[in-house]
Amino acid sequence: MKKVFAVFGDPIEHSLSPVMHNAAFKALGMDCTYHAFRVSRENLKDAIKGAHAMGFGGLNLTVPLKEEALKIVQPDPLAATMGAINTVDFKCTVRGYNTDGIGAKRALVDAGVKIEGAKVLIVGAGGAARGISFKLAGDGADITIANRTPEKSIQLAEDVALVGNARGCGLDKLDELIADADVLINCTSLGMHPQVEATIAIAEQMHSGLVVFDIVYNPLKTKLLKEAEKAGAKTVSGVMMLVYQGAEAFRIWTDVEPPVEVMKEAVMGALRT
Ligand code: NAP
Repeated sequence: MKKVFAVFGDPIEHSLSPVMHNAAFKALGMDCTYHAFRVSRENLKDAIKGAHAMGFGGLNLTVPLKEEALKIVQPDPLAATMGAINTVDFKCTVRGYNTDGIGAKRALVDAGVKIEGAKVLIVGAGGAARGISFKLAGDGADITIANRTPEKSIQLAEDVALVGNARGCGLDKLDELIADADVLINCTSLGMHPQVEATIAIAEQMHSGLVVFDIVYNPLKTKLLKEAEKAGAKTVSGVMMLVYQGAEAFRIWTDVEPPVEVMKEAVMGALRT
C-alpha cells in the first residue's frame, strides 16, 4: 500500500516540500506520496497521533509548530538542545529531529566553506537562526548573532554557548561585524517575495573574501545575493538549505540515499513558475 508522508504547518499553501519529496519518490520508483496539511498549534498533538495511527511514513513540521512538537514527540539530542523539531519519524517510537542546521551546513560546505574556525555572522534570531547557529557553533564556527531586537539575539547566543562560541548583539555595528566576518547568513525574512528590494546589507558593506548565504529562497536571487555579487563575494542560495534539510529528512524516514539533484530541480522548477 502507498506510504503517506506529510508536512504540517499554518499557513502551508506555499510549501515546496510536496513537490520536492514527490519528485524524489518518483525518481526512485518508491510507492510513496507526500501532502501538505494545514494544522494549528492546538491540533498538533492530535494530528501527529492520527498520522502515527494511520501508518504515515513520516512528517515535516514548519511554522508555527516546531517548538510545540518538543512537548509531543521524543526529540533526538540535537533537536532537544536546539528546542525545535522539523522532522518526525514513526519507525520505532515517535521521534523528532531538526534537519535545518544540517541543511544549512551542507549548503555552505558545498560552496567550499570550512566550518571549523570560520567567523560566521548570522543576522536574525528567529527559528531558522536557532537551528543554524546551534549546528555551526557545535561544528566549531565562531558565531555572532545580530538582530533587530537585541534581547532575542543575546538570549539565543547564551543558549548556543552551551555547544560552542557565540555572542549576540543588535544591528548598530553591522558594518564592522561584516568587515570582520568570513560568512554572512541572512536569517531574517528581509528580501522575501513580495518585498524583493529589501536587504540586510548592500555591496559597499561587503568584501570579496566573504561568503554570503541568504536562506530566503523566493526569489531565487535575492537583493542581498545581487549586492554580494557586486562586491565580488561568493553567494549561496537558500534553495540548497531547503533541499538538504529535506534530503536529510528523507534519509531519516526511508534509510534510502536521497536524489538531491532531482529534489533541487523540482524546487527550482516550482520557483520559476
Ligand atoms: P522568524 O522566526 O519569524 O524570525 C524572523 C527574523 O527576521 C527575526 O529575527 C526578526 O527580527 C527578523 N526580521 C523580520 N523583519 C525584519 C526587518 N524588517 N528588519 C530586520 N529584521 C527583521 O522566521 P524564521 O522561521 O527564522 O525564517 C526566517 C526566513 O528564513 C523566512 O523568510 C523563511 O522563509 C526563511 N527560511 C528558509 C529556510 C530554507 O530552507 N532555506 C528554512 C527556514 C526558514 P525580530 O526578532 O526583531 O522580530
